[in-house]
Amino acid sequence: MKVPAVELSECIRCEICTEVAPSVFRLNDAGYIEVRELDAYPAQQVDEAIMACPVDCIYWEAQ
Ligand code: SF4
Repeated sequence: MKVPAVELSECIRCEICTEVAPSVFRLNDAGYIEVRELDAYPAQQVDEAIMACPVDCIYWEAQ
């Protein structure tokens, strides 16, 4: 299964991904973007977040 991932060292915490795909990405209490644990990820929303991320730090990871 493909799972979205975030390269946190590049993330600038603009929260665009949490607006584009709130069911997938959230800002955790520590202030970092987190990928929610889901059985299946909405590919279209994730792809939109990948395209919208200003620093290109979201990617698909094979699991
Ligand atoms: S859109 Fe990209 S840079 Fe912005 S918070 Fe999400 S992962 Fe980080």
